[in-house]
Amino acid sequence: MTSIDKLVENTIRADVREIGSYHVPDATGYIKLDAMENPYELPEELRRELGARLADAALNRYPVPSYATLKGKICASLGVPGGYDVLLGNGSDELIAIMATAIAHQDRRAVVMAPVPAFVMFSRSAQFAGADFVGVPLKEDFSLDREAMLAAIAEHKPSLVFLAYPNNPTGNLFDAADIEAVIRALGDTGIAVVDEAYQPFARTSFMGRLPEFPNLVVMRTLSKLGLAGIRLGYLSGAAALLEQFEKVRPPYNVNVLTQVAAEFALDHIDVLDRQAEQLNAERTRLAAELGKLPGVEVFPSSANFISLRVPDAEKTCARLHSERVLIKNLSKMHKMLTNCIRVTISTPDENTQFLTALKASL
Ligand SMILES: *Cc1c(COP(=O)(O)O)cnc(C)c1O
Repeated sequence: MTSIDKLVENTIRADVREIGSYHVPDATGYIKLDAMENPYELPEELRRELGARLADAALNRYPVPSYATLKGKICASLGVPGGYDVLLGNGSDELIAIMATAIAHQDRRAVVMAPVPAFVMFSRSAQFAGADFVGVPLKEDFSLDREAMLAAIAEHKPSLVFLAYPNNPTGNLFDAADIEAVIRALGDTGIAVVDEAYQPFARTSFMGRLPEFPNLVVMRTLSKLGLAGIRLGYLSGAAALLEQFEKVRPPYNVNVLTQVAAEFALDHIDVLDRQAEQLNAERTRLAAELGKLPGVEVFPSSANFISLRVPDAEKTCARLHSERVLIKNLSKMHKMLTNCIRVTISTPDENTQFLTALKASL
């Protein structure tokens, strides 16, 4: 064995060595419908104005770690209840990692829980933080299995429970009463994180209900709304919780370019909201078209993607790939998702190209 292999073996954790890396395929020349990105850019004149603002950003200085202006705009324009503050992350991925790190006791078993299939970073972050991950299967129709969740909470006493609302990769909204039951069951032993990454498309939220539940954290991101490139996530919850998470947050985790771009985007949130409305209208159209295809099962979605089951996902993905359309094959994620694929809602033209290629694959 060469010495570098020895070095890796001697230094890197076995569980890290064993996992595959997060694979993002090169999308050059492809219609990219695999990552829930907004296909629309900001209008030309807004981009010019943003360019001028970015030119004035103080790149020689560290960001001011209080991020007061940006936080103020988020609280004012995104429905954060009065008296509640936000914690900012380099994407909500970082916020997930911060929370997992904060609860991963070193002297006893700490558990992170989520219904599965779920967003992969919930279990990854738990693992990297040194906590155990417990996945509780959804029901066959992808609804939350309330009885199973409550039983698992009683058995494993999770410190952190993630509930994506709407859920990724299934796209559906869990029943609000089921989520409430989970939050109540956790009481003062566990934190419930409602991950609202797709809130701009679902138009429903637990944010306004923070005052009802001291153990509730609501997390969101600007990524799916149209700013995936700037990497900004935020969460809100009780001040006492935010105070602890804040200690784990790297002090300058949000860079000044992101800060300027996010402040600018929030001043023009109406533009992004209109894009989300257009995407929702396309979601309705695409779901209806997909529903007409024999052998295709379309799952209800409140997000900017649709998950569906096809007769042969491998074959469909290969065909789409040859037509230069990238989608996600969910088959290997969970046995409930056998022959399921996930497609991001895009422009009418790209959606139609997807439909045509899909039909050809069936
Ligand atoms: C995309 C996604 C995120 C990650 O968002 P970033 O802010 O881009 O890191 C978080 N949660 C869910 C459920 C997602 O689908």
